[in-house]
Amino acid sequence: MDIREAWNILKEEGFKRTKHRERILEYVAAHDRYMTALEIRDVLAADHPGISYDTIYRNLATFVELSILEETELEGERHFRMQCDASAHHHHFICRICGKTETIPHCPLDLISLDLPDHSIEGHKFEVYGKCPDCLTA
Ligand SMILES: [Zn+2]
Ligand SMILES: [Zn+2]
Ligand SMILES: [Zn+2]
Repeated sequence: MDIREAWNILKEEGFKRTKHRERILEYVAAHDRYMTALEIRDVLAADHPGISYDTIYRNLATFVELSILEETELEGERHFRMQCDASAHHHHFICRICGKTETIPHCPLDLISLDLPDHSIEGHKFEVYGKCPDCLTA
């Protein structure tokens, strides 16, 4: 997902192009990792002193609903990143040191569902944590 695609979705859904939304998307798109609303607030507050945490949080939640962003919970906090592939179901490896993520195209549910015949599976979460090659050699 790039910023242009994100704006197409927002426009289709009737959302206006605001300075705040623009800055949030720019920042998230420039970083290939998960981040908190607080981090985004701190960065944006430098040039938009009036921007509130609520505004950022609300926008992030909207972006997740529209599948522009993906979210996960790390250490009890909501983290957001740009959607890497909205068209294909996937999972992530997340580096504990730098936060960078790697897309995993395979889904363990394909295997696990074999152990659950006669069940209706409604959702699942799967994430892999560790150190990325860069952090391993640093
Ligand atoms: Zn992803
Ligand atoms: Zn790393
Ligand atoms: Zn899956």
